[in-house]
Amino acid sequence: MKQEIDFDAIIIGAGFSGLYQLYKLRDELGISAHIFEAAEDVGGTWYWNRYPGARCDSESHTYCYYFSDELLQKWEWSERYPGQVEILKYLNFATDHLKLRSDISFNNKITNMDFLEDENIWLVRSDSGKTYKTRYVINAVGCLSSANKPNIPGIVNFNGDIYHTGEWPHEEVVFKNKKVGVIGTGSSGIQAIPVIAESAEKVTVFQRTPNYSIPARNQKLTDEFVKNFKTKTSEWLEKMLLSRGGHAWPSPSEHCFDTPEKERLEILNAAWVAGGLGFRECFDDILTDIKSNNIMSDFIKDKIKSTVKDPLKAETLSNIDHPFSTKRPPIDTNYFETFNKKSVELIDIRADPLKDIYDNGIRTESTSFPLDIIVFATGFDAMTGSLLKIDIKGRSKLNLRDTWSGGPQTYLGLQVAGFPNMFMLTGPGSPSVLTNMPRAIEQHVEWVTECISHLEENNLKTIEASSQAMKGWVEHVNETANKTLLPKTKHSWYLGANIPGKPQVFMPYTGGLNNYRDICDNIAEEGYTGFILS
Ligand code: NAP
Repeated sequence: MKQEIDFDAIIIGAGFSGLYQLYKLRDELGISAHIFEAAEDVGGTWYWNRYPGARCDSESHTYCYYFSDELLQKWEWSERYPGQVEILKYLNFATDHLKLRSDISFNNKITNMDFLEDENIWLVRSDSGKTYKTRYVINAVGCLSSANKPNIPGIVNFNGDIYHTGEWPHEEVVFKNKKVGVIGTGSSGIQAIPVIAESAEKVTVFQRTPNYSIPARNQKLTDEFVKNFKTKTSEWLEKMLLSRGGHAWPSPSEHCFDTPEKERLEILNAAWVAGGLGFRECFDDILTDIKSNNIMSDFIKDKIKSTVKDPLKAETLSNIDHPFSTKRPPIDTNYFETFNKKSVELIDIRADPLKDIYDNGIRTESTSFPLDIIVFATGFDAMTGSLLKIDIKGRSKLNLRDTWSGGPQTYLGLQVAGFPNMFMLTGPGSPSVLTNMPRAIEQHVEWVTECISHLEENNLKTIEASSQAMKGWVEHVNETANKTLLPKTKHSWYLGANIPGKPQVFMPYTGGLNNYRDICDNIAEEGYTGFILS
């Protein structure tokens, strides 16, 4: 008997991963697939993160789909690092080129998902009030899409405007003649502050944790680069597939500590001048050897001190107490230079903690700061936040929130035991946020498509991670992370430590995207080891 379903597959989210997943399932596998998206248009993180200065930290010619040569040839990037407007245009271009729009329901936030065991199907409900039946659910909800809005006392009393970088309005926000307070100095704050300071009357930066940042050295791409790139796309892809982070630079082999000082400085200075996240790849041991890490950390601290003229500001900005790159390192355009402007003040809220927000501004324990606008650059409930906003019930009405009450547990970051036919793209336990995301996304989408194709061809109804395999993978993710310095930095969103009450578990897989791809491929080739197929 044919099952009554609305779609073979429902995909949640129309960002980079959801769009590609729709194309693969609909156009290559030939099954019916549909995206539900909370926003009114495509783009995912790039739809929401419209704050001034929003820009990607992967280089543009690598931050795009590589599965289609036509897309690669037809699109032209203009800058080394693509800005939010350009990336959103690119995703709209890809959506239209692949004719995806007709299979997307916008303004539809998925609120509930229930697995109906008797029928082996998922019942998916959206905030439109409608429910849909589907055999497969693919969560493409993004890793950094649930805004973290700290509950600072008195926030409702503020008479001015409040914005969060991750939920920036579509209309232009005018800073001219305004006193602006910015809370947060992660990647978003570090990108936004210099741009806000260009027009604001005054900017007050409330810094809790000082941060490293590498100059981006953004620039226009030359016609020659673009032309050349288009003739060599397969070479670029090969480089990215070989690398541990999905970027196009080779993995280093030299140890920092063992390299003679003169040579070491030459390498570091050259990487500083080149700019960008490639700086992290100067040496191969900065995330495993604290002595090596200290050398790189001190190098950056010296750069900060030599850039920022006011000694107090320089000290407050460079007084960094975590090893470089154990929190996601931002890249910037004129971040530290911006503190040389008289109109930009820096408040160390570790020394003088935030007390409350009052009608006219922000108060610390010692001082009141009158403000017209407050910008929260306070990040996200990363990797699990968006998924756990959905009430997801698997077998025996097992709730994902309960399964993950002690932190996320997955097999390969792709599935959770007890939740058959439910996949996650770039979920916790996969390399995801440690990589150039489009490479991690393409790997996951292609693996999931192959997996569904295997089920369809073999007339199988369900695939589900076994509890044992999930336990083993969680252990492997922890063991791998514990070989690095990464989990030792406790106040990091990689661990969930930025969200009060969130269980602290190191979430991304640190074993490298290249190795992870091999693991996933081998598991599929061996007949989906660790999964139960029925
Ligand atoms: P983030 O890295 O989590 O930084 C949030 C900032 O807000 C931190 O300085 C944090 O201080 C501060 N903060 C949080 N809660 C606070 C509170 N209650 N009081 C005072 N300060 C508070 O968030 P993000 O900057 O949005 O970046 C998140 C991630 O998104 C990045 O790491 C990156 O992966 C991605 N991203 C990428 C780009 C890019 O591609 N260029 C741009 C933006 C974002 P503590 O450190 O003390 O918690």
